[in-house]
Amino acid sequence: MRRLCLSVAFLLAAGSAAAQQYPTRNISMIVPYAAGGPTDTVARVTAQAMGKAIGQTVIVENRPSAGGILGPEHVKNSKPDGHTILIHHIGMATTPALYRNLRFKPLEDFEPIGLINDVPMTIIGKPQLPAKDFKEFLAYIKKNKDKVSYANAGIGAASHLCGMLFMSAIETDFLTVPYKGTAPAMNDLLGGQVDFMCDQTTNTTSQIKSGKVKAYAVTSAKRVPALPDLPTLQELGLRGFEVGIWHGLYAPKGTPKPVIDALVSALQAALKDETVQKRFADLGATTYPPTMATPAALQKHLKAEMDRWTPLIRKAGVYAD
Ligand code: ASP
Repeated sequence: MRRLCLSVAFLLAAGSAAAQQYPTRNISMIVPYAAGGPTDTVARVTAQAMGKAIGQTVIVENRPSAGGILGPEHVKNSKPDGHTILIHHIGMATTPALYRNLRFKPLEDFEPIGLINDVPMTIIGKPQLPAKDFKEFLAYIKKNKDKVSYANAGIGAASHLCGMLFMSAIETDFLTVPYKGTAPAMNDLLGGQVDFMCDQTTNTTSQIKSGKVKAYAVTSAKRVPALPDLPTLQELGLRGFEVGIWHGLYAPKGTPKPVIDALVSALQAALKDETVQKRFADLGATTYPPTMATPAALQKHLKAEMDRWTPLIRKAGVYAD
């Protein structure tokens, strides 16, 4: 018995010593979608600034899958030592209602680190679409509803959620084409293989500004300073239509408290960094204040978002499997 107690004490001491030395090597930030897309962009800006603050490189690693459901599972099963963390968006709150056999529980399998930013979405079309504004766009997709295709990043993605709400708001169903992220979806949109999509401004702002895609509306309640000419869907008559895509950081359950504290400090330092704030603002995103970059704020927000979306999704009767 005595030997057992001693070895438990030894293990605990060794664990806390390892936690004190953290980080001992590069940290992997897992992105559940394809490289070059909006979640990836938020990850790269955050990772670079966090790396400076924590004294080790934070490497962005893409583990893409439709709906972004494999990245969280990978992090859940990773060693809880702070060297593998997850960045994810609103999908963390919506996927449990959409998948019957999801292999992770957002509120139970992770240690929340903190909130990062909030990103509006935009309704955009392929360059060849004839519609010049939202009114013409609506008339066009309603008239061609059996032909037009809507690109998304799979069931549970932000682009899926936005598309689902949009279809219901305009009472029109259309064909959806799933990708492992909206970076490949954007490539196909630019190439004219799909007709339209709803995607975060972090992926669409530069394409809109350079006129490479047709832009029809933003999904936020107010216009986005980075895209001042783009009307909101509410202005255009879709009352109550508002979707904001928030991002958070998570570590595997059981990650020691000193390690989480170090990650929280690094995240807060990153969000206070003016270059990070400017980069996010240029991409249409709003950076959360450091007071929201805390485990308690993220856990509270995640729970509130799950409570908000689950009944709406259940009502819509959508399931991935
Ligand atoms: N924008 C994607 C989504 O719809 C994900 C991504 O590629 O970052 O969730």
